[in-house]
Amino acid sequence: MLKRPVLAANWKMHLGPVAAGEFMRSFLERYKPRPDRTVIFFPPAVSLASMTAMVRAAGRTDVLFGVQNIHWAEKGAFTGETSAEMAKEAGAGIILVGHSERRHVFGETDAQCAKKCLAAARVGLPFLLCVGEKMAQREAGETAAVVTRQLREGVAQVPNLISAEFLIAYEPVWAIGTGLTATPVDASAIHTLLRSELGAMIGTRAAEIPILYGGSVGPGNAATLLAANEIDGLLVGGSSLDVTTWIKIAES
Ligand code: PEP
Repeated sequence: MLKRPVLAANWKMHLGPVAAGEFMRSFLERYKPRPDRTVIFFPPAVSLASMTAMVRAAGRTDVLFGVQNIHWAEKGAFTGETSAEMAKEAGAGIILVGHSERRHVFGETDAQCAKKCLAAARVGLPFLLCVGEKMAQREAGETAAVVTRQLREGVAQVPNLISAEFLIAYEPVWAIGTGLTATPVDASAIHTLLRSELGAMIGTRAAEIPILYGGSVGPGNAATLLAANEIDGLLVGGSSLDVTTWIKIAES
């Protein structure tokens, strides 16, 4: 089971192998292992193998790496895609599924997210499933319906969900990369709803599933969000790209 809080950096399409290596060298020097939390990086897939090799060579087991996306098939004629098996072989220990940019820029559906969660389970890796409403859905009072649908449909195909290892991230689409953040109270309310949905699916095990918040998190609001009820960690985009800023957040 992952230690909480879980501090996860989503680098999106930033930091190729050279820049990622420089970041990691500095991070490993300055961020000392802590037994009270989990730190995860989701670098671009091409940076993954060199980063995991660097961390292994440094004997650091406190940092986990993941991929930002996978295809659900094991292999095949899917130009540009990466399978869960390949991600695992390159050192991924976790798979991000259904990030808002995948859903809203690339048109990924709940059904595709479900196949990706299933593929992660097939190779024995945990997945981090992102859910979140758009501004128009929020204004129409549809937030609860949207996030519960994304959660239910996303995990629908995972066998033995009750014993599967997975995490959820609540990331309101309107807060990602915009400088707008859900208040801790508003975020807590959605996290409580998601926990209760999980409870209906997997009973008391729901308490063990980390639910992360994401959306314009930075060093100025990380600690307050982490202190809020039911927020078990943070998924951070823009503010994870600078090593000093990211260390401040990872130590919040
Ligand atoms: C993200 O990419 O998941 C994210 C939350 O981005 P940002 O922190 O930049 O809003």
